[in-house]
Amino acid sequence: TIELKNVSKQFKKNTIIDGMDLSVKAGEFLVLLGPSGCGKSTTLRMIAGLEGVTSGQVMIDHRDLKELKNDGHTIAMVFQDYALYPNMTVYQNLEYALKVHKVAKEERQNRIKNVLETLNLTKYKDRLPSQLSGGQKQRVAVGRGMVKKSEIFLLDEPLSNIDVQLREKARDELQNLHATNQQTIVYVTHDQLEAMALGDRIAVMDQGIIQMIDTPENIYNNPANLFVAKFIGTPQ
Ligand code: ATP
Ligand code: MG
Repeated sequence: TIELKNVSKQFKKNTIIDGMDLSVKAGEFLVLLGPSGCGKSTTLRMIAGLEGVTSGQVMIDHRDLKELKNDGHTIAMVFQDYALYPNMTVYQNLEYALKVHKVAKEERQNRIKNVLETLNLTKYKDRLPSQLSGGQKQRVAVGRGMVKKSEIFLLDEPLSNIDVQLREKARDELQNLHATNQQTIVYVTHDQLEAMALGDRIAVMDQGIIQMIDTPENIYNNPANLFVAKFIGTPQ
C-alpha cells in the first residue's frame, strides 16, 4: 500500500500540493488525472522519494518512506522526460537496473527480450537514445520500468508520445503485467479516456487537491463537482 497523509508541498512560497490524503491499495491500478500544472508529477516524485514533502507523511506498506532505505528495489518509475542513460544503448538502458539488483543473466535476457518485442523495440536495441525518435525513447522509458517487475510501478504520462495502435498494445501489456505481477500502479495522465480505460480508480486532481477519487463509473455518473464533470466529460 501507498499512503499519503496530509501531504503538502511548497516550492518557495507556492503551495503545489495542499494537504493531500491518498491511499493506494496493494495491487490497485490507480490513475492520477488532471490538467497540466495541477501537481501530478510532483505527487509521483514524492511517492518515489525523489522529492521531499514540506509537511505530512508518505508511507509505503505502513512505513514512513523516510525510514525506508529506498534503493529503488520496490519502486520503478517511468519519467515524463524519459531520463534515459544517454551513453547506454537501448538494451543496456533496460538491463542496468536488473544488473544493479543482481537479477541472473538468463532471467535478464528473457525479460528484456519480451519487453523489447512488446514495445516493438527489438530492432533498435543497439541504438543510443540520441538515435531514437521521441516515441521510441518513450517506449524505452516504459520498457525500463516494465523489466524491473517491481511491487510499485509509477508512470508519468508514459504513452503520450506513442501512436494510437502501439499505445493500445502498450496499455494491454501494462494491464497484463499488473494482473500477473500484482503490481501496485500509479499512472499519471491528463487524458480522461485513458484514465477511464485503465484505472481501477481515478483520482481527479486540480490545483494540488484531489477533487474526487472513485471508480471510473462513479466519477462519470456522479461527478463530485463541476470541475470533475467538465474534466471527465459528463454530459451536463
Ligand atoms: P504536466 O501535466 O504539465 O506535467 P503536472 O500536473 O505534472 O503538470 P507538476 O510538474 O507537478 O505538474 O507541477 C505542479 C506545479 O509545481 C507547477 O506549477 C510547476 O511549475 C511547479 N513546480 C514543479 N516543480 C517545481 C520546482 N522544482 N520548483 C518550483 N516549482 C515547481
Ligand atoms: Mg507532469
